[in-house]
Amino acid sequence: MSLWQQESVHLDQLETVRELQQRMEKAKRDRGQLLLDLGQKQYRAILRSGDTQAVEMIMVQDVLIYETGKRIREMQEAMKPNRCISCEASLEKDAKFCGSCGTPAPQPDVRPKSPCSSCGTPQPIDISFCTCCGGQLGAMQ
Ligand SMILES: [Zn+2]
Ligand SMILES: [Zn+2]
Repeated sequence: MSLWQQESVHLDQLETVRELQQRMEKAKRDRGQLLLDLGQKQYRAILRSGDTQAVEMIMVQDVLIYETGKRIREMQEAMKPNRCISCEASLEKDAKFCGSCGTPAPQPDVRPKSPCSSCGTPQPIDISFCTCCGGQLGAMQ
């Protein structure tokens, strides 16, 4: 009997089916994570190559996640009362300055935007990379 076989018999005696299942599940999870890491590297490389058609299905999900997240933040912002960043007095809607201390109120982002050439989400024209897909903005396709 080889050393390997002896070892295997030894393991058989010690291990339960449950332990083996746990080990297998862990291996599957680890494999899934490694695949995800590999996929994300590939995805970024493909995006850089400009071949967005190859990753169109992923990009659809990216845009959905991005737009939904943005909408959630907007709704959360709209729900919380508008307060002065300096004295915390409540501000009227659309107020440009605090009525109590005169501190300028935070203004909504009004920078001009144009759609990203890769994913199509509106992006401010003065930034270099898309905040949704990471694609270079203003790059010639
Ligand atoms: Zn104030
Ligand atoms: Zn983009």
